[in-house]
Amino acid sequence: MSRNSKGMTRTGALKAPRREGRRAAGRGRTRYRRLVLKISGEGFCRPGGIGIDGEMLEKIAAEILGVARLGIQVAVVVGGGNFLRGASVAQKSRIQPATAHYMGMLATVINALALQDVLEAHGQETRVQSSIAIAAACEPFIRRRCIAHMQKGRVVILAAGTGRPFVTTDSAAALVAVEIGADVLLKATKVDGVYSADPVRDSSARRYARLTYNRVIDDRLKVMDVSAVDMCQQNGVPIIVFSLLKPGNMRRVCLGETVGTTISG
Ligand code: UDP
Repeated sequence: MSRNSKGMTRTGALKAPRREGRRAAGRGRTRYRRLVLKISGEGFCRPGGIGIDGEMLEKIAAEILGVARLGIQVAVVVGGGNFLRGASVAQKSRIQPATAHYMGMLATVINALALQDVLEAHGQETRVQSSIAIAAACEPFIRRRCIAHMQKGRVVILAAGTGRPFVTTDSAAALVAVEIGADVLLKATKVDGVYSADPVRDSSARRYARLTYNRVIDDRLKVMDVSAVDMCQQNGVPIIVFSLLKPGNMRRVCLGETVGTTISG
């Protein structure tokens, strides 16, 4: 297939750089080629806390590195709930809801920049792309550039959600998973999957190993926003809910072990 000077094939597809070819060689054991990881803001702080905790950041970074080193292309969508969530800020003040949601999106940028530095301290190349223009600190989100970074082995950290108020970073993660052609959406949480009830409060709660999208939506199971689950269902992107607190969990997911809860058709 002929390529032009920008590395595009005649059909407009991005060419696979040589480095991707080398990485692909070590990828035989893995289940996925490209994934989106969604980490809520609460993953960045200690349980019940706020802001950013250095140890939690190291744990997140270790999980991402474990997967990136398998040669899997990784995009990370970060939440901002460890600083603020738009809806509750608007409820408790005279800040307009739309403004509060923009504030929430800016909070995700703080987490993204923090994660970037910790990953880079471990020698992992990264890029932060934001859906709100913050030219001094990060790139804008550009789909084809995001894919090209991943093909070069860079972890892309996606900030500012969708760039629009009144939705959450869950929806942003589902959208971007579809947009960049990810094989799976990994949703990292504090608990090791989806339960029939709150496992902290109800000892009879049981964990589901598998669920259908319809069951999650119909039973209103608290996994992700309905719109995010629906987006994944419409486009056949499986969702795996797992705990990021157990070291090596994300790598196990990618090596095909049964971890957490898989949501699919
Ligand atoms: N937000 C938004 N649009 C988006 C993504 C996020 O307005 O596309 C705002 C929203 O107010 C949200 C806040 O940013 O409450 C933080 O994101 P989120 O609640 O998803 O963070 P998480 O709960 O994952 O930490």
